[in-house]
Amino acid sequence: MSKQFRFFEQVNRSFDRAAALTKHDPRMLAQIRECNAVYHFTFPVKRDDGSIEVVHGWRAEHSHHKLPTKGGIRYSYMVSEDEVKALAALMTYKCAIVDAPFGGAKGGIKITRHEYSNGELERITRRYTYELKKKNFIGPGVDVPAPDYGTGAQEMAWMADTYQSLSAGELNALACVTGKPIAQGGIRGREQATGRGVYFGIRELCNDAEVMKRLGLEQGIAGKRVVVQGLGNVGFYVSKYMQEAGAVLVGLAEYEGAIGNPDGLDLDSVVKHRKDSGSILNFPGATDLETSSKALELDCDILVPAALENQVTRDNAPDVKAKIIAEAANGPTTAGADEILSEKGALVLPDTYLNAGGVTVSYFEWVKNLSHVRFGRMQKRFEEGAFHRIVGAMESHTGRLLPLEERAELTRGASEEDLVNSGLEETMALAYQTVRTTQNSYDGKANLRAAAFITAINKIALCYEDLGFFP
Ligand code: NAD
Repeated sequence: MSKQFRFFEQVNRSFDRAAALTKHDPRMLAQIRECNAVYHFTFPVKRDDGSIEVVHGWRAEHSHHKLPTKGGIRYSYMVSEDEVKALAALMTYKCAIVDAPFGGAKGGIKITRHEYSNGELERITRRYTYELKKKNFIGPGVDVPAPDYGTGAQEMAWMADTYQSLSAGELNALACVTGKPIAQGGIRGREQATGRGVYFGIRELCNDAEVMKRLGLEQGIAGKRVVVQGLGNVGFYVSKYMQEAGAVLVGLAEYEGAIGNPDGLDLDSVVKHRKDSGSILNFPGATDLETSSKALELDCDILVPAALENQVTRDNAPDVKAKIIAEAANGPTTAGADEILSEKGALVLPDTYLNAGGVTVSYFEWVKNLSHVRFGRMQKRFEEGAFHRIVGAMESHTGRLLPLEERAELTRGASEEDLVNSGLEETMALAYQTVRTTQNSYDGKANLRAAAFITAINKIALCYEDLGFFP
């Protein structure tokens, strides 16, 4: 069986294990598990040297139980039908866990991004969007892509612009894609959202007295030794927020290699070194590891795979020393590795919960686009006026004037970014508690991955029950 085939299988194996613990009708479980639609297409792209190349693209819509469907677009030479189906399925469960009102989807283009010029990438992205639109696989109420591995705000801007030019007069056209630049209808905080959400999730776990006691770790993030694999959008921001909270980055890995230092690596200095020298290796004071994947086996408390799927496998799981594997990436731990880690007493904080911060803030962006008004615009000044009146009343009662700086901080109204970050924090904290409550109701029979799946399955099942299906 090839690796390509296995990812969707892996997701479904986790689904089946969790589903077996529920009492839902097997026909309903089969409906939830299936991928509802997949579109595979090819199109020609003119390279800068005048040659023509045939490019493969996919979009998988895993579940139509809620519409639109939602999920990122990936640019990677490893993209395949199996991969987009697996990632789309994870999106379905993720959206359910954090109450984002979407079915799951995922798309991808099979290219090695750095081999293409900016102009070529623009032509590929625009043509991909055109093909999706032609078959009704994109639209504010149909299917809403977002950034993923190998894509970012630039690609989303091209997609939104292409979609808009094909749908003259469609008032909500900008809501066809999220993760856009601010000037193109994006939302403040989206770029950082997945990494920030991962940080909130790890923080919830580290503050969970019962779990930390079981793992033999102190509560809190401060002082925890952390290894991060992948310094892209997600990995960079997880590392940043973990370091700011007092964690020690003892290992960092990129595709060209990995470095370690038990005394800690300064993130910004490593990023600058990589930019200047073209490699993460040879960072002053750090040790170069034998291979990039050796970082996964470094001595640490928390391992954060933030690159790609299938990184912790049956082969290397016995050598993983971390007590917590925080799945910032999608599907980084195989089902076989899961078993080994669990036997070793390690805990996996699952992707379906942990990296849901991205889709959470994408949801906020979609709502912003549909409402055509920036969050906070209507109430910021009103709030500030009310806070000034309260502080003024306090001052006149106490006879003491607050220093200007303190007054300014106390009377600040919420900006769009404040509201986004607070909504994200609330979502991640609440979802953690929901998953843990589910886990507790299974008397030790469900690990966190199973509990997250059960949480999602129960919510999706409700949609079908409300429709009177599978009575
Ligand atoms: P990205 O392209 O911004 O970054 C990925 C990084 O991983 C790159 O720097 C790449 O060089 C590095 N990398 C690739 N192979 C590696 C290897 N073998 N070892 C070490 N580093 C390697 O992608 P991203 O958006 O940060 O996505 C990373 C993961 O997070 C993916 O699994 C993605 O599906 C998941 N995710 C992303 C988002 C999002 O909002 N971007 C949301 C949820 C989940």
